[in-house]
Amino acid sequence: MNKPSAYDVIVAGAGPAGLSAACLLAHGRCRVALVSPGAETPPETGDAIRRTVALMQPSMRLLEAVGVWTDDLKSPSAPLETLRLVDDTGSVFAAPTVNFSHRELGEEPFGWNIPLDRLTAALHAAAVEAGVRLIDARVSAYRCQGSEALVSLDSGDTLSAPVAIAADGRQSVLRAGAGIATTEWRYDQSALALSFAHSTPHRGVSIEFHKPTGPFTTVPLPGNRSSLVWLVKPGDVDAIMALTPDDLASRLQLEMHGELGLVTDVSTPAVIPMQGLTARKFATNRLMLVGEPAHVVPPIGAQGLNMSLRDAAFAADTITDAIRMDEDPGSGKLLAGYDERRRGDVVPRQAVIDTLNRSLMSEFFPLHAARAAGMTLLQHVPPLRKRAMLEGLNPPGPLPRAMRG
Ligand SMILES: Cc1cc2nc3c(=O)[nH]c(=O)nc-3n(C[C@H](O)[C@H](O)[C@H](O)COP(=O)(O)OP(=O)(O)OC[C@H]3O[C@@H](n4cnc5c(N)ncnc54)[C@H](O)[C@@H]3O)c2cc1C
Repeated sequence: MNKPSAYDVIVAGAGPAGLSAACLLAHGRCRVALVSPGAETPPETGDAIRRTVALMQPSMRLLEAVGVWTDDLKSPSAPLETLRLVDDTGSVFAAPTVNFSHRELGEEPFGWNIPLDRLTAALHAAAVEAGVRLIDARVSAYRCQGSEALVSLDSGDTLSAPVAIAADGRQSVLRAGAGIATTEWRYDQSALALSFAHSTPHRGVSIEFHKPTGPFTTVPLPGNRSSLVWLVKPGDVDAIMALTPDDLASRLQLEMHGELGLVTDVSTPAVIPMQGLTARKFATNRLMLVGEPAHVVPPIGAQGLNMSLRDAAFAADTITDAIRMDEDPGSGKLLAGYDERRRGDVVPRQAVIDTLNRSLMSEFFPLHAARAAGMTLLQHVPPLRKRAMLEGLNPPGPLPRAMRG
């Protein structure tokens, strides 16, 4: 007879997606093991802000549900009140500037811009508090055998549970072990992520300048400071990284046409090559994909981690409901339901992001004209603008429990 598993679910990956899934599952009374290199040590945080994530209201409700949306995390973060799209392509088909204001939807801001290292550290502390068993190891192999998900670790141990969650990043070992193929593509772009101080207040406005190399997006931080994600040609990265801090500040000011006044105190940029990825299945063989094992998108419209947190919340609902009703949480039927639901949210969003990104880089004029026509409609037809805002914030169908508030 097989020894009963010590865990209801094994989560691989201690990034924000895996930690959120682990916290939600532990709050739902599941016995959770979370495996990741360094998982037993609290993640480091620094004073300099480079990477931030803009999380929309449904994600903010998840952060509240797992108890991390406290003053400690709020103080280095800032609310997002307006999203402004500015055509800076220089195309003959110039699109009008479009402003999306949260006031068209209600009182709450669209969401918050949060330093990624602080968010990860807060979720790690919440996982410890919720009783998640953190295991400092790397998953070396995954297989499904009968009614068990078997997760082999580089320590030589093997963990088993009726279901496992892969949140181990875009090169996921678990996804490969479950035999899930991917569609992957590269963009001729690298993202530079940094933060900077400016003399003109941002007034809660995030500005997305659409440039021929891709978006250049400023996002508010507390005080007169903003984070920036700037998509550039990979061949231009070395020259930008070689600029002195003062020259980089002047370059940013120029790129923004002085919109935020004088730029100073620029943090060292992080450089991330841009790629896209979609898993052909989001769940099978007792494995659910959460976050980047399932989908990778360029940082446009703040969709990446927002989608991943929805994966985490739907996976937690699926597993906790099954356990409560004494059903098998890794059954083919439940996993097929998860796959269908998450694809319906993720795949159309990836298509929109991809089209917008390629339309900026393309020299095909009809595409420029189509983008300009779309932006004109958004600026001048309020019901359409409202619909675009609601779809940007929410998945189709009902929200998972942790995001309902
Ligand atoms: C420049 C930029 C800006 C962005 N801005 C936004 C934004 O504004 N809003 C938004 O929603 N999203 C944004 N995103 C996307 C967001 O940052 C990512 O989706 C998110 O950080 C990924 O988190 P994750 O937990 O899925 O993966 P990761 O943080 O990559 O975590 C993966 C984890 O798996 C672990 N791991 C790896 N291999 C193994 C293994 N074999 N065994 C066990 N563990 C393993 C790793 O150590 C790590 O802990 C942005 C992305 C970029 C690049």
